[in-house]
Amino acid sequence: MATQRILDFLATRRPDGPCLVVDLDVVRDNYRAFEKALPDSRIFYAVKANPAPEILKLLAGLGSCFDTASVPEIEMALNAGATPERISFGNTIKKERDIARAFDLGIRLFAVDCVEEVEKVARAAPGSKVFCRVLTDGTGAEWPLSRKFGCAPAMAIDVLRQARALGLDPYGVSFHVGSQQTDLSAWDRALSDARAVFGALAEEGIVLKMVNMGGGFPTRYLRDVPEAQAYGQAIFSALRKHFGNRLPETIIEPGRGMVGNAGVIKSEIVLISRKSNDDEVRWVYLDIGKFGGLAETMDEAIRYPLVTRHDGSETAPCVLAGPTCDSADVLYEKTPYPLPLALTVGDEVLIEGTGAYTTTYASVAFNGFEPLRAYVI
Ligand SMILES: *Cc1c(COP(=O)(O)O)cnc(C)c1O
Repeated sequence: MATQRILDFLATRRPDGPCLVVDLDVVRDNYRAFEKALPDSRIFYAVKANPAPEILKLLAGLGSCFDTASVPEIEMALNAGATPERISFGNTIKKERDIARAFDLGIRLFAVDCVEEVEKVARAAPGSKVFCRVLTDGTGAEWPLSRKFGCAPAMAIDVLRQARALGLDPYGVSFHVGSQQTDLSAWDRALSDARAVFGALAEEGIVLKMVNMGGGFPTRYLRDVPEAQAYGQAIFSALRKHFGNRLPETIIEPGRGMVGNAGVIKSEIVLISRKSNDDEVRWVYLDIGKFGGLAETMDEAIRYPLVTRHDGSETAPCVLAGPTCDSADVLYEKTPYPLPLALTVGDEVLIEGTGAYTTTYASVAFNGFEPLRAYVI
């Protein structure tokens, strides 16, 4: 949603070219809503969703922890004021020298999903806590994470046993139910797997302490999504169901759910045309596309709400495309987007719900277009 602060900023500053405007008040509200929905979980903001220094600083001040995937992300979180014990190195794919660098910076919590990675952590970050990521099927997620991260729960048992053998602290289990997850039962299935790993290792005297329940909390795009409160309740009952009265420490890692609805991209229509004289579908070309930060339109996965000054008037289906000379730079074609017939070249189009996964996905200078500019207000 474009908040009044964002609309006022655009009206007074009138920035030229496409840009993202993020309202920190919304980020603060989102943080508080997560805190309220899951009061016993520590919040590790997934830095990759939007690493703007102002956002990291705000969250650090509110008490957030940070999930990072690289040494530069760790440094950004430290610069924002987070202490090392509030930062996890949550990427399961790390160079050994980056693990060593993180260890030097004070990081003691690492993600792993195989014995090979455990060996690296044991060498480069001796004695650290590790949690093993288990696979989830991603059902119900609009941006699923596939099989790239995690291992089968049965293998997680071996991985954590090996961590103990190599002098690490086998600390827990993590999962990610897939991004933009709207099926509340996804956490229940994953928590059942996590419980199985806890149980098997307990029998060998290895007592795990923590479940990292990852991200996946959705942003409202075109359809309503459950509120943080509903996620909190579903997750809490799933924890009770699987762990009974012996609840583990828990972590959540919201990315999209923390910043998605806090940002709006201002764009402009560059061209409106048709491909033949009797074509019903208009092609609407914006000054931003897949390479300007809207990469999550890949396979038309994320469908952003668009706002124009003609909303409410008669619409017709449009193919929406970006400005670059790459034919992949088409946002919505399989499912055309209904837009007002009254739109003309030069009209502003606000793209809502773009606070997450936009600035970080923008290319450096494809066709000479500058990376997506961002204003955090
Ligand atoms: C990207 C990522 C997240 C954030 O996911 P969202 O769906 O944006 O909440 C959380 N944890 C890990 C390990 C990630 O890679």
